[in-house]
Amino acid sequence: MTAEYRYCPQCAAALAWIEGMEDGGAKSRLRCAACGFTHWNNPTPVLAAVVECTDRGGRLLLARNAAWSGRMFALITGFMEAGETPEEGIAREVKEETSLVAEAVKLIGVYDFQRLNQVIIAYHVQARGEISLSPELAEYRLFEPGDALCWPAGTGYALADWLRGRGIEPRFIDWPRRDGATATPATSS
Ligand SMILES: [Zn+2]
Repeated sequence: MTAEYRYCPQCAAALAWIEGMEDGGAKSRLRCAACGFTHWNNPTPVLAAVVECTDRGGRLLLARNAAWSGRMFALITGFMEAGETPEEGIAREVKEETSLVAEAVKLIGVYDFQRLNQVIIAYHVQARGEISLSPELAEYRLFEPGDALCWPAGTGYALADWLRGRGIEPRFIDWPRRDGATATPATSS
């Protein structure tokens, strides 16, 4: 579910839903009748990090986004920039959002997130240093891995897979309801 373009980025004519023949057969997409431009609407890659603080006893840093209404603590995420590898991108995001410096970056897996037309590439990032949050993040908490609760969506499954890899059976919270009520976060320190 992403914003739909109304005008052609090549010639500024109005886009319309037009059926065209593609490798997979006839397909209706936003296209430009004037110049032939097609808006493919491919999913956007999003990077995510399970941040392990190696200088804080291996506790995990989870953060609450300032734009969220509930008290949900989740992974550090961000978009890739042109001209960087995914590993460089997630190290950059962790630095920008928490000030922590990545020492090691290892792939956890790739996760589906069709609701936002994204694909999530999740990494285990071992990091250290002073913590200073960007304005995007309202607060953070440090969790012992066994105390971190997962959530039933893209990045939550990445955290669950990482916990399983450490021999910890993940526990899931209920997804926050629209009225703002959330499950109680795990105990933190
Ligand atoms: Zn056009």
